[in-house]
Amino acid sequence: MTDQCLFCGIVTGDVPSVKVAEDDSTYAFMDINPGSEGHLLVIPKQHSRDLLDISPKDLAAVTVAAQRVAKASVTELGADGVNLLNCCGADAWQTVFHFHLHVIPRYRDKTKDRLELPWTPGVAGEKKTIAELGQRLSSALERASA
Ligand code: 5GP
Ligand code: ZN
Repeated sequence: MTDQCLFCGIVTGDVPSVKVAEDDSTYAFMDINPGSEGHLLVIPKQHSRDLLDISPKDLAAVTVAAQRVAKASVTELGADGVNLLNCCGADAWQTVFHFHLHVIPRYRDKTKDRLELPWTPGVAGEKKTIAELGQRLSSALERASA
């Protein structure tokens, strides 16, 4: 818990929210600026800043809780699909620095859905660069686990 954190305030109830679900380690609530009908956020109750900071245990719990509410968005709201989104770092669009997964129900009916794909699909990358970057990441992971 940090005093300045908005989402820690939501967990304690000091900041009001529309709660959807809760368990021992996670809390799910509606986003106040929804990108689609039923857009909600799932957070760990214990403060962590972002994807790089959260414990594997809390990350697993948040992901499982997100799957549960995603299923409800399909069965109850009639969503045609669901996006899970996490923004890690200001340059990746993170604005609230308490880890959260966006659960964004998606609809063919665009009156319920304002999202657009943020990159142009089908623009091929350079094969050599893709292979080099993949090799660097793979080697870094092998070094880290050695
Ligand atoms: P980010 O940009 O960090 O990935 O997402 C932060 C999300 O938190 C945004 O979608 C924003 O609408 C939502 N948000 C910001 N302030 C509040 C709030 O006070 N209450 C709720 N329920 N959502 C909030
Ligand atoms: Zn927090």
